[in-house]
Amino acid sequence: MALKTPEQYVDSLRQLKICAYVAGERVHSVVDHPAIAPHINTVAKTYELAHQAEHREVMTAISHLSGERVHRYTHIFQNTDDLVKKIQMLRLLGQTTGTCFQRCVGLDALNALYATSFEIDQGEGTGYHPRFCDYLLRVQREDLMLAGAMTDPKGHRAKKPSEQADPDQFVHVVERRPDGVVIRGAKLHNTGGINSHEILVLPGTGLAAGEKDYAIACAVPAGAPGVIFIFGRQSNDTRKLEGGCDIGNPRFGVVGGEAMVVFDNVFVPNEHIFMNGETQYCGGLVNYFATWHRANYGGCKGGNADVLIGATAKMTRILGTDRNAVVRDKLTEMIHMNETTYASAIGAGAMGYRLACGSYMFDPMMSNTVKQNITRNVYQISRLAHDLAGGFLATMPDQKALENPEIGAYVKKYHTANPDYDVMERIRMGRYIENMTSVTSMVESMHGAGSPQAQRIVMLGLAGIEAKIKMAEQVISGTDDVKGIALPKSN
Ligand code: SF4
Ligand code: FE
Repeated sequence: MALKTPEQYVDSLRQLKICAYVAGERVHSVVDHPAIAPHINTVAKTYELAHQAEHREVMTAISHLSGERVHRYTHIFQNTDDLVKKIQMLRLLGQTTGTCFQRCVGLDALNALYATSFEIDQGEGTGYHPRFCDYLLRVQREDLMLAGAMTDPKGHRAKKPSEQADPDQFVHVVERRPDGVVIRGAKLHNTGGINSHEILVLPGTGLAAGEKDYAIACAVPAGAPGVIFIFGRQSNDTRKLEGGCDIGNPRFGVVGGEAMVVFDNVFVPNEHIFMNGETQYCGGLVNYFATWHRANYGGCKGGNADVLIGATAKMTRILGTDRNAVVRDKLTEMIHMNETTYASAIGAGAMGYRLACGSYMFDPMMSNTVKQNITRNVYQISRLAHDLAGGFLATMPDQKALENPEIGAYVKKYHTANPDYDVMERIRMGRYIENMTSVTSMVESMHGAGSPQAQRIVMLGLAGIEAKIKMAEQVISGTDDVKGIALPKSN
């Protein structure tokens, strides 16, 4: 069963004893809760497309461990083509669902652990990598939905993990046993965890030598005792409970259904521990994860923007503004920004490089540039969608008004624009645009895969400012004589 069907994914979630709270109340079945169901539908789509012949190349890959065809969401990148196909997969899924499909964090955490466990073994003579490969084989064989849990609450931002008044502000080991460890703490902003099979827990920051208890990387079943999910509040989330057109994206919801996940003295057996105290490898692990994850946004947000651009273009037809040259130019601007980030993500894959463990990494400068552009372009694209769709995004009456026999006809009559289109098309498109450009969506674009300044630090560090100064000195001197110039390699 290397490729689960969507039904098998949902059934397998039912078997887990996931401890989850939504709106402050314990949820007895995540599968049947209306606040979570849209996000499960989205992940189910990732399973569904893998079975379709036309998407097979993009959605699946051949495992380098077993030689079997596996879901690309469980695959270790073997070459630059795998990196490019990952971005293509994300755009396809973004186009199909119009929202976040959640499995990318687990994929990038898998790859980060594959590379880091190899490097720890090389440097320290440990045995993490074979152990991780055994785990990976099971993930591939069972086509597991993995969440990645990286972002600690962090407490006082000016203090290190070991300096916090409350040591639980960073996930850490509180007990060591012969057969495993007990961990405590929490991770925030956890995408898809509430509807995943397992969580990959990774350190979220570089650590000092005295902080060994915080250097813990492991796999934890989502239903393990002591794992508690507390679902995040989203813009307009009670609309999911109401049903009807106000939800915007009725089947797949908006963004990834994030939760905070608490690890309240969770036991982790040795076979699921892939780093335990090797503080000197934490910074590298975080960097690997971030570089693999930041390029993603050119794919997933690209696919989401395709849907948003489509909704906006349709809206201009419904309004009768579609032939206006200014309107067409604004649509072109949306397309331009979207294709720019997609091209950078594809470029990051095409220019990727091989790591010591044999897997492949995105070009770091391009990957970080993709994410930096996303923190702007998604806002700009959304601004133009608001501009072209009009003020009714913020003022239109709700589904209940439409259903009320006393006033529903007024709502429809006075929201009818071009009579060639049913008024409900306008309302539904408007609701999608409203929800897809809500605070929840936009903030995810800003902070997902790291806040903007995190990318800028990497970009400046990689840019080779000194080499650029030498280039300028050489060009301006009119000679080839400037010493110390390091021209970039041409690949
Ligand atoms: Fe994947 Fe994008 Fe969602 Fe992150 S925001 S999990 S990259 S779809
Ligand atoms: Fe994200």
